[in-house]
Amino acid sequence: MGTGVLERYRDLLPVNEETPIISMGEGDTPLVRSRHLGPELGCPDLFFKLEGCNPTGSFKDRGMVVAIAKAMEENSVGVMCASTGNTSASAAAYSAYCGLAAWVLIPKGEVALGKLAQAMAYGARILLVDGNFDAALALVREFTDNNPITLVNSVNPHRIEGQKTAAFEVSDILGDAPDYLFIPVGNAGNITAYWRGFVEYHQLGQNDTLPKMMGFQAAGAAPIVLGKPVAFPQTIASAIRIGNPASWKQAERARDQSGGTIDSVYR
Ligand SMILES: *Cc1c(COP(=O)(O)O)cnc(C)c1O
Repeated sequence: MGTGVLERYRDLLPVNEETPIISMGEGDTPLVRSRHLGPELGCPDLFFKLEGCNPTGSFKDRGMVVAIAKAMEENSVGVMCASTGNTSASAAAYSAYCGLAAWVLIPKGEVALGKLAQAMAYGARILLVDGNFDAALALVREFTDNNPITLVNSVNPHRIEGQKTAAFEVSDILGDAPDYLFIPVGNAGNITAYWRGFVEYHQLGQNDTLPKMMGFQAAGAAPIVLGKPVAFPQTIASAIRIGNPASWKQAERARDQSGGTIDSVYR
């Protein structure tokens, strides 16, 4: 395939005649059968979806390609996000590809250097905010509300739309939904997106079944497990160091409707 998610799943995405069908080759990532963990656990049909194979190294590219295409459709001149992680790398790469400017606001002192280096290499402009992530996001909201600049944090609904294509791919390969889907939960956008993808395929009659959604937070950053925001989330897994998830309610709905769980592990 290698055509990208907008082309491949255009009928199930917010694509119209004005939407540019762009692609850096995101999606169509390998679904690899486990050779060790699966047999050890007595589960011969355990698969890993290698989302690190996306163009900038994370599943964020699936949602970003849709968000950027919609930004171009709306004649945006640039994009902006608050992020120290994979979102900024993805936003910067797709912006460079499409000739848009990219601004990344980062809370002072919370810099994931590797990921920031990636965004800088793609030409994003980095702005340090004297405050936490919430303060940075508030500034992004204010600026994008008043300028022809598109907000590409996960509160941008096109991000979730694009990310649901991972559920389509898993289903296309297996011929149905899996029994269980295990997924890390930070802002809870991705668990929301997978659930939406599986529900849509089920409604279309493409899948007979729905999976149980098994979400996992780090023990030091587990607001959904604890049932309340965590003021100072701590974990070495910086992509899920989130104290107050943006898609909290949607994640709980996915858990409850699917009969799955959201649990915490390690730190
Ligand atoms: C963004 C990200 C997550 C967290 O996803 P959410 O949608 O915020 O729950 C987990 N792992 C990686 C590698 C990520 O880039």
